[in-house]
Amino acid sequence: MQAGRRPGDVALIAVSKTKPLWMLKEAYEAGVRDFGENKVQELVEKAENMPSDVRWHMIGHLQRNKVRAVIDKAYMIHSVDSLRLAEEISQEAAKRGLVVKILVEVNVAGEESKFGVAPKEAEGLIRSIAALPGIRVCGLMTIAPFVENPEENRVFFKSLKNLSVDIEGKNIDNVTMDFLSMGMTGDYEVAAQEGAAYVRVGTGIFGERSYPISDTSV
Ligand SMILES: *Cc1c(COP(=O)(O)O)cnc(C)c1O
Repeated sequence: MQAGRRPGDVALIAVSKTKPLWMLKEAYEAGVRDFGENKVQELVEKAENMPSDVRWHMIGHLQRNKVRAVIDKAYMIHSVDSLRLAEEISQEAAKRGLVVKILVEVNVAGEESKFGVAPKEAEGLIRSIAALPGIRVCGLMTIAPFVENPEENRVFFKSLKNLSVDIEGKNIDNVTMDFLSMGMTGDYEVAAQEGAAYVRVGTGIFGERSYPISDTSV
């Protein structure tokens, strides 16, 4: 738990994926310390070129063979959705004497295209992860559907919150539900109202992303 964090506090993660270093440095100068990336390679390269007090949040789907590269760079891994991935993190963490903070990704909306464990499977997965060394479950994460009206996602943020309260109530050793990571540019206000501890905002901070294939801008 972060020192001095009060219930209801919301921290902003600046999602800098695809953005050049100079933009991250500007954000850093403006006071941002929490950055989110969704690719291991990009996170590692940026971490090597940014001040060491940046907290790097791994928010994208993580493959087991990439765990080793990211494990000592990431402040928190938001996207753990299988026991096999958790076991890999645990093994690598144990080798280095680390305790890695993770969130369990839940697919609250049940979208087929999304990663994340089904809500009814979350508790079982968390119980299994809790037994592993070198890893600590700190809460839940979700990626809500892309919608025009952010109010449509309120129900999903509420259900992630309710799930976290249920799990907290089970008092599982080595598990806390201090952090809900939910809400993006389009819906972070609604997510914050429903109890987000972290909102992950990319476009709203850095502008639209232009991916290389269609990159005709700047
Ligand atoms: C890209 C991304 C975000 C930020 O999305 P914006 O709509 O640009 O704010 C948040 N969370 C995850 C997991 C992402 O991949």
